[in-house]
Amino acid sequence: MILQVPVVQVPDILALDFDGVICDGRREYVHSGWRTYRQIWDSPSATPPDGLAERYIALTAVIETDLDVPLLVRALMLDLPAERILQEWTELTPQLLAGVAREKIQTEFVRQRDQWMAEDFNHWLNQQPLYPGVTDRLQQILASPIKLVIVTNRGQRFALQLLQAAGVMIPESQVFGKQSDRPKYQVLRQLLTLEDSKLWFVEDHVKALRLVKQQPDLAQVELFLADWGFNTPTVRAEMESDPQIHLLSLAQFTQPDFSGWLNADCNS
Ligand SMILES: [Mg+2]
Repeated sequence: MILQVPVVQVPDILALDFDGVICDGRREYVHSGWRTYRQIWDSPSATPPDGLAERYIALTAVIETDLDVPLLVRALMLDLPAERILQEWTELTPQLLAGVAREKIQTEFVRQRDQWMAEDFNHWLNQQPLYPGVTDRLQQILASPIKLVIVTNRGQRFALQLLQAAGVMIPESQVFGKQSDRPKYQVLRQLLTLEDSKLWFVEDHVKALRLVKQQPDLAQVELFLADWGFNTPTVRAEMESDPQIHLLSLAQFTQPDFSGWLNADCNS
C-alpha cells in the first residue's frame, strides 16, 4: 500500500500586512486620532467622550491610511450613523476634511504619535499588542529559509519599533512602510522582480487584495484575507466564493507550518 502524504506548499517570500494581521493597533490609533482631531478641529475637551474608542473599533474596517483615523474620529464626534460611515466612507471623506489639507492632518498625526511616544513610550507600546501566537510564528519564519517581509501603510520606523519590542528581529530592509502613497501591489511587484519566487501575501483589507488581483503580472501571487483583522463578516462571506483569495484564520496563521493555507477557504 502506498501511503499518500500530502505535500504542504510553502512560500519563498511571505509578505504580511502589519495592522490587523500582526498587530492589533486599534487603541493606539484611536488615541493618536483623538489627539490629532483635537489639534486640527480645536476641540476644547481634553479627554475623548465615553465610548469613543469602542465606537471607533467597531468601524475600523473603513481605515486604510493614517488620514482615515482622525477623520473617523471626526465622523464620530459629528454623530454620523455607523451604517452611513461603513457604506459611504469614500464619499464622506472630502466632506469630513472640510477644507483642511490632507497633508496638514497627516503631519499632525505623525507629530501626535511621536509626542505620545516621547511622553510615555510604554503606554504607547501597551496600546498595540501583537496578536496571540504571532511573535513565536514570526520568529520561526525568520529562522527558516522563507523570506519574511512586512508591507504596511504605517511608517516603517513605527512598525520596526513594535516588532523589535516584541522580540521579532527582522532586518530593516524587509519592512516596507508607507512610501509616498505607493500601493502595496507595487511593493509586491518589486519583490518579484528580485527573484522568480512563490510569493504569498496576507492582508486584512480586501481592497488591497483586489488591487493585487487586477495586476496581470502578479497572477502568481497567492492572496490571503486575515479573518482576525479589520474586515467585516460581509467581506469574509464574499471570500468564500472567491477562488483567488483564501480566507485564513489566526489559528492557521500561527500553527508551525503552512498546511491548510492554500485550501483554507475549503476547511472552514
Ligand atoms: Mg491591515
